Amino acid sequence: MKEKVELLCKEIEEKISNAKEIKELTDLKVEYLGKKGIITELQSGIKDAEDKKEYGMQVNTVRTCFNDLYESKLTELETLELNKKLESERIDVTLPSKRIRQGSKHPMTRIREELEDLFVSMGYDVYDGPEIETDENCFQKLNLPLGHPARDAQDTFYLENEYEAYLLRSQTSTGQVRVMEANKEKGPIRVVCPGKVYRRDDDATHSHQFMQMEGLVIDENVSMSDLKGTLETFCKKLLGEKTDVRFRPSFFPFTEPSVEVDATCFNCGGKGCPLCKQTGWIEVLGAGMVHPNVLRMSGYDPEKYQGFAFGTGLDRFAMFRFGITDIRTIYGNDSRFLNQFTRGDETNETK
Ligand SMILES: [Zn+2]
Repeated sequence: MKEKVELLCKEIEEKISNAKEIKELTDLKVEYLGKKGIITELQSGIKDAEDKKEYGMQVNTVRTCFNDLYESKLTELETLELNKKLESERIDVTLPSKRIRQGSKHPMTRIREELEDLFVSMGYDVYDGPEIETDENCFQKLNLPLGHPARDAQDTFYLENEYEAYLLRSQTSTGQVRVMEANKEKGPIRVVCPGKVYRRDDDATHSHQFMQMEGLVIDENVSMSDLKGTLETFCKKLLGEKTDVRFRPSFFPFTEPSVEVDATCFNCGGKGCPLCKQTGWIEVLGAGMVHPNVLRMSGYDPEKYQGFAFGTGLDRFAMFRFGITDIRTIYGNDSRFLNQFTRGDETNETK
């Protein structure tokens, strides 16, 4: 019996170690341990054995021998199969990827965001009004009644048919009217309104569409010195810390008094160069104290409230900052132009 068991164990060891697949292994299990399996039949021979205890022990040896070999082989084959599967499904990370084209912010967006950040840091809100406006909001409520000669400089595009009361706004000051009307009786206002405006212009320094930013502050006890301080901060932020600012008397229908604001030329530092036409100064904005008529028309009592307003063309700043010579390229959508404003230089812009 003992020799038989040893032979059987040897046979099992050989067969199991030769198994190449899990299927072969499970077949062996049926062959030895199935209903009519070799070990099962050996087990049933116990009833005829002389020494039942010894016989049982021998059968158990074979069974243990089979089970141990079976388990370790099964683990081995499973690992092998898993590896094979992983190998066949492996992703080749060295393959060249599909190139995703990285976009960049439009120069106007960058200038606008920079200014919004500055004014938000000074406690202003940002208001974004509609580009299609009424004549009333665009002109009349800004002290430019029908037939006023100053309207000529702001001729714009008008809608037809049932929409003929509407036009494309010629200035972001319309935002000022809307904010005042929405806020009347509610007290102070501090707001900037950046956005697109339209005029009937088209040459190298004028586009039929451009970007402005209007600023408006209304409160009790607001004075010209507040305006001056605000605009100095604005110019220094945009054109550099060394920038000087000068105010010249001017005329706008919606402010009184009105000023034009010049900043020292950032290109030559005020010495004179072609950019500033040898004057050392560049004109950057128009501003003034809000006209009492404008306050009254939008529901503010000019005896109680004063305010200042300023407006500037953002395209000019973009042209200065990025050395753009023709304003029309800003709106031309030519990717060769836009590709120059890659993401990389967004963090280290020259100021
Ligand atoms: Zn200059």
